[in-house]
This record gives sequence, structure tokens and C-alpha cells, in this order.
Amino acid sequence: MDIAENIKLIRKELPSEVKLVAVSKFHPVEAIEEALAAGQTVFGENRPQEFEKKVLALRERGIEWHFIGHLQTNKLKMVLPYADLVQSVDSIHLLEAINEWGGRNGKVIPVLLELHVAAEETKQGFYEEEILDILFRAESFRNVRFHGLMGMATNTDDEASIRADFGRIKAFMDYLQDLFPEYADFRELSIGMSGDWRIALEYGATMVRIGTSIFGSR
Ligand SMILES: *Cc1c(COP(=O)(O)O)cnc(C)c1O
Repeated sequence: MDIAENIKLIRKELPSEVKLVAVSKFHPVEAIEEALAAGQTVFGENRPQEFEKKVLALRERGIEWHFIGHLQTNKLKMVLPYADLVQSVDSIHLLEAINEWGGRNGKVIPVLLELHVAAEETKQGFYEEEILDILFRAESFRNVRFHGLMGMATNTDDEASIRADFGRIKAFMDYLQDLFPEYADFRELSIGMSGDWRIALEYGATMVRIGTSIFGSR
């Protein structure tokens, strides 16, 4: 795997305003070092322990860290002190815990709300109505800042189904931005992974989360 070359090829196709999140989960710190040397500065991890370990191993390197995995409330302290963005807030319980943690620690935590889209396997994420409820009372979460939505398309080769999923996320994003024009920060749409990021660009992705196509298989 030529990590630098992979990043270069992706960057060539990626509009400059779309953020590339290099998903380094299961890959060693050395792989992140290689990506850093190639100019990649935004990294995503999905396990609290691994996230914290890598953050601490790579301190003061100018990395922007995104947490993209399921987060249990007893693991907040491994993630929240370091995360520049928590992309994967997927329950009210978690959101309230993050807000409380932020209050206790004098921080405002930037988050994305994960929308449940994919038909099958994962039950992770909010339904549309839940996200509406949250945003209607966004001011009550004083230690959280809502930056947008994260979503995963159904894991399939069927492009029509991927397009249907991304189309739904994009439509909901547009709807929310119309409904809450005062939430100027709510503009990130994190959709697209190794297999479908090119399609995601057609549906307004502002960030793509790419692991395998950069670091190889896990
Ligand atoms: C692992 C992971 C990715 C990257 O997946 P690839 O297919 O390897 O690019 C993106 N998003 C989330 C939430 C992930 O867990």
C-alpha cells in the first residue's frame, strides 16, 4: 500500500472544499505518520481506546481528530478531551452525557448527528423525528455544538440503493437548513466511504471518511 500515492489520487478527484477524513482504525501509528508526511491532517478513529492511544502518541502534530464510532457513555473521557469533532452521536442518552461532560469540563463539544439510513445491519443512528426534536431544543444542550449530519449508505454494490440512501440524507439536510437558518454552523454532511465517496459528492458531501482506499484492508 502506497499511502501517500493513495491520498494523492483521492485528492485529485476531491473538490478542494470537501474535507478528507482519513480513517486510520486498526492501522498502526506508523501508517498515520506516512499519511501525515503526505500532507493529510484529518484522521478518524472508531474505538475509544485506540483513539486515545493514537492521539497521545501523536501529540502536537497538528492533527484534527474525528471520532466516528459508537461511543458508550462510560468511555467519554477517552474521547472528548481530544476530539475536534464527534461525528457519531447516535442517541439522546449519549447526547445528554456529552452535554453534561462538556458542562463539567468547561468545553463545548462539536458534534454531528448520525442519521439512521442503511436498511439492514446497523441499527445505529437517529430517526428524522428524533433529530428534529433535538434541534428544536438545541439551546438546552449548552455544551454541544451541532455541525451537521453523518450518515452511512447501505453496504451494497447496488448503486441505486446507495443513491436512494444518500438522496434521503441530502434531502433531510436541506430541509433542516431551511427550517433552522439561524444555525449557521449546521452545514456539514459527512457521507461517503471508500466504496461510495464519489457518489456521495453528487449528494452534497462536505466530508468523506475514507479508510481502505488509503490504508488498505483491515
Ligand atoms: C471504518 C469506517 C469508515 C471507512 O470505511 P472504508 O470503507 O474503509 O473507507 C467510514 N466511516 C465509518 C463510520 C467507519 O466506521
